[in-house]
Amino acid sequence: MPAGRPPELDSNGKPIPKCLVNVTIPTKLRDFLAQHNVNRSELFRTAALQYHNLQICPYCYSHEIKENDKGWRCISDDYERGCEKWLKFKHCKLCNAVHTPTSGLASVNNKVGCDLCPEYLQQKEDNRKINVVFGNEQQR
Ligand SMILES: [Zn+2]
Ligand SMILES: [Zn+2]
Repeated sequence: MPAGRPPELDSNGKPIPKCLVNVTIPTKLRDFLAQHNVNRSELFRTAALQYHNLQICPYCYSHEIKENDKGWRCISDDYERGCEKWLKFKHCKLCNAVHTPTSGLASVNNKVGCDLCPEYLQQKEDNRKINVVFGNEQQR
């Protein structure tokens, strides 16, 4: 890394520790990279992250990635609260909506759906009507 460049920071603002590694590659590949001014550190990092997609957090480089029904999330506990970044979201299996950090899973006809599923919204609306009938809904 050239002197004077600010250190790369992780998602918590801490500098990411780095080290030097040696790799052995064909000479002609080395020549190609040099001719095309390819930053080898950048290339190696990008390639490694893509090759091991969803196994390493690209924000803090933690290896603690957890998959659940919503997607893949970094659960690194290197820090007090952990990185907790979402790496990729899944689509709802029922309505195909893409999950978001705030979206929720919902039981729809005994299947795992989301809180945007039309059936779920209908159920919610029906429940609201029932509550109105029984006087449980607060006055608007
Ligand atoms: Zn992370
Ligand atoms: Zn859904």
